[in-house]
Amino acid sequence: MSLQSGIPAAALDAFGRSLGSLRVSVTDRCNLRCRYCMPEEEYVWLERDEILTFEEIARLAGVFMSLGVDRLRLTGGEPLLRRDLSRLVAMLNEAGGRFRGNPPGEKGPASEPLAAPRLRDLALTTNGLLLSAQARTLREAGLDRITVSLDTLRPDRFRQLARRGALEQVLEGLGAVRDAGFSRLKINSVIIRGFNDDELVDLIEFGRRVGAEVRFIEYMDVGGATQWSIEQVVGCREMLQRLAAHYGAIEPFGRNGSGPAPADRFTLADGATFGVIASTTEPFCAHCDRARVTPDGLFLLCLYARRGVDLKAAVRRGDPDEALRALIVNAWQGRRDRGAEERLALRGRGPLVPVEALRQDPHLEMHTRGG
Ligand code: SAM
Ligand code: SF4
Ligand code: SF4
Repeated sequence: MSLQSGIPAAALDAFGRSLGSLRVSVTDRCNLRCRYCMPEEEYVWLERDEILTFEEIARLAGVFMSLGVDRLRLTGGEPLLRRDLSRLVAMLNEAGGRFRGNPPGEKGPASEPLAAPRLRDLALTTNGLLLSAQARTLREAGLDRITVSLDTLRPDRFRQLARRGALEQVLEGLGAVRDAGFSRLKINSVIIRGFNDDELVDLIEFGRRVGAEVRFIEYMDVGGATQWSIEQVVGCREMLQRLAAHYGAIEPFGRNGSGPAPADRFTLADGATFGVIASTTEPFCAHCDRARVTPDGLFLLCLYARRGVDLKAAVRRGDPDEALRALIVNAWQGRRDRGAEERLALRGRGPLVPVEALRQDPHLEMHTRGG
């Protein structure tokens, strides 16, 4: 144990799980209204002056990285709605020790990577609507990877599902990602019975055409999914059976390469790969190393957590990094969360949080937590 003022460099929680990755939700606003995430007509938003500035986010990310976090993901709401997001990307790279001097893309002396950067992977999850305008600047700012959420390839269904925007915009965004030189593009598809479960093969074939790996996500009963029911969940096993009926034998490929990531990966006979995130029927809490921070700086230990630790208050009252580290480590060491596993054990499972409770506390919403 390396000690920095008595704080272990790698924090372990009560079940021995390390703190390895951080999801930062940069806004609770969204330009879509997906029926599995934001099905209501009205929402209570976080106050604008409560939202962390880029400087505050970069500082917090730096503190998390000093505790062993080496993978960051920007999410939301829709992260690309946050103005000038590429500036934050550059700042996070710098906080992670990747570039000394000017961030890439800015004028001035060439950027210089440090010998052992703390940040190993900087990724973004987006609905893709605004990607065609932003993909290149994000790449130039040092973003490593992009995951685009795309649940259907049919324009009419897209409209029904997302209630705003258009499929065409997402497809243009995917083209821009490729043109900007990103590799390892992923497409996340939430599969809902009776809605898009007839598109499994189409989505895999589409992914093949655009050079992306598709990951099918089981419909989860997270806060905000007020129309969730177990009947609409298509489990991992069923998805694999259906795909095997079309493609023939499917081989497991092991878990995602970048740490204890949730997607189980599979290969088709012709070598194509895809993933399934089986959070609902086969949760992976036992290996979960993921911390979350909401747009207003609430530190959450689990996607299902009812409460969090207010890091914004600590940052804004001027606490030094050491105090922030202690706050984070203390919370993590007491972490016993295994939300999805606990939900699995329930009988008569329904939506996690009633609409009235979501209105009273928007921190319980998936679009605030970032998925
Ligand atoms: N707006 C961005 C997007 O859609 O990619 C980022 C935020 S969104 C909350 C992050 C991920 O959560 C998306 O891939 C979305 O499909 C997923 N998600 C939202 N609600 C879900 C639910 N009820 N079950 C499973 N996945 C869900
Ligand atoms: Fe918005 Fe993403 Fe939620 Fe859809 S899944 S409503 S795009 S935050
Ligand atoms: Fe991690 Fe909580 Fe999700 Fe389980 S439910 S995998 S502990 S975030």
